[in-house]
Amino acid sequence: MPKYSFKCKCGNVTEVVRPMKESDAPAMCQGPSGCGAYMRRDFKADLFYTPDDSYKTPLVSDSLAISIDQIAEHKRECPDIEITKEGQPVFTSYKQHEAYLKKTGFVKSPKRKRVNEKKITTIGETK
Ligand SMILES: [Zn+2]
Repeated sequence: MPKYSFKCKCGNVTEVVRPMKESDAPAMCQGPSGCGAYMRRDFKADLFYTPDDSYKTPLVSDSLAISIDQIAEHKRECPDIEITKEGQPVFTSYKQHEAYLKKTGFVKSPKRKRVNEKKITTIGETK
């Protein structure tokens, strides 16, 4: 679950772990130094976190899929990242995903062609 920072007008700063859909819900200034007021999200502090939260379910990336003949290369280069037999990399966390994007130099508008061919034709097939 993601972590969010909250800051109180009294100066108290707290980290709250909660589901993403509740990220903006107010948090109470609690604890020994708490004043009991509602705290506001501290978006600036959030930027300092390295998101390493694991994905709830492994993310099978269609957009990052490589062609089947690149799978062996992928396994050599990125042994920690699983790949499906269709060539889709499987990420278990955001951090892993990011690292992969960096490593492969992948930019947001891919020039790489997607390989959609599922059927493998055997060369020299006899009729
Ligand atoms: Zn406070």
